[in-house]
Amino acid sequence: MDKVAQRFIKYAKQFTTSDPESTTYPSTHRQTVFMEKLVEELKEVGCIEVEMDKYSYVTATVPANGVQNAPVVGFVAHVDTSPDFSGENVQPQIVEKYDGNPIVLKNGVTIDSKDFPEILNYKGQAIITADGTTLLGADDKAGVAEIVTAAEYLLKSKDIKHGKIRLGFTPDEEIGKGTDHFDVKKFGADFAYTLDGGEIGELEFENFNAAGAKIKIQGRSVHPGAAKNKMVNAILVAHQIIAMLPPTQRPEHTEKYEGFFHLTQLNGNVENAELQYIIRDHDFVKFEEKKKLLTEIVQHINFQYGKNLVELEINDQYFNMRQKIEPVMHIIEIAKKAMLQAGVEPKIKAIRGGTDGARLSYDSLPCPNIFAGGHNFHGPFEFVPVHSMVKAVEVILNIVKIIGK
Ligand SMILES: [Zn+2]
Repeated sequence: MDKVAQRFIKYAKQFTTSDPESTTYPSTHRQTVFMEKLVEELKEVGCIEVEMDKYSYVTATVPANGVQNAPVVGFVAHVDTSPDFSGENVQPQIVEKYDGNPIVLKNGVTIDSKDFPEILNYKGQAIITADGTTLLGADDKAGVAEIVTAAEYLLKSKDIKHGKIRLGFTPDEEIGKGTDHFDVKKFGADFAYTLDGGEIGELEFENFNAAGAKIKIQGRSVHPGAAKNKMVNAILVAHQIIAMLPPTQRPEHTEKYEGFFHLTQLNGNVENAELQYIIRDHDFVKFEEKKKLLTEIVQHINFQYGKNLVELEINDQYFNMRQKIEPVMHIIEIAKKAMLQAGVEPKIKAIRGGTDGARLSYDSLPCPNIFAGGHNFHGPFEFVPVHSMVKAVEVILNIVKIIGK
């Protein structure tokens, strides 16, 4: 069994689910426990400057080998798994030679090519799944295993000449807080790559611009029998706002570069109602237009009722990293070349979400995203082909080789 697969299985068995309700950082102590073990392992493989800070970020250095003055490159992965599905007591299963037949797991979970046709791309390969009761955690422990395995190779074999390399491991990515306390200055890389993508070949440097909107509606509750010209039903005002937003711009009707308004919450009675939306668009102009449209709808309704019964609060959440990557497009070219050298066809696509790399890019660490190899994240159907992980390790090695030239 390949080293990277062994390492991944060891990580997958450790419970590291993050918790969106927590008020601590990291959100769960179990992530710190994982990080403590990772510190020991990084020291064992020969990394230097191995540190865990008070927020449980772990950083380490692979010192330069024969190359001075090369830019410092970083590799970053997150250790938590999604709270959307159980990540406790994960029991990785290995299908040694996937033959295309359904993979039957516990709890009636079957990974069937009818539902997930992309699995047929891995016929004849070894595939790792969970046992049906939990997620697998290839998002993103595959990335962690790939980075550590590449570092171990560089430090042991010494046959690749390269400059200084920094490694970073973050908690709480799945709850949107992965980089809240990440010390970019101390990390000291000129640019970095997250290994947090899906299928083999994925290369991403575009993500959504994102905002959250909260709409509060103050109605006027009056006895319905005496309500004529007096009652304002907050629920119906909420309904009016929902109806005024374009129905074609909802998540269920959009794909690729199409943005959306997504209603995530609706609470209300006659007296008060509240709506929560998330607004997403890759294009910054369209993103601003979406925020403007919602603002104008609220103004219109307030005008119609002759008073400010609707209050709107919009907060930007993150931005498309493309803006920060464009001036340094050579780092995309490096990743592409590294993949081609490993015999992997680069698949460039826009992320319909955010990444830690997007936030880091705005913190002056340009940070595109590379595949870690897994599929069907955040649930019991998750799987990762071993060959994809092996190729991710190769891509890391090729990247440092290219930069060192
Ligand atoms: Zn991830």
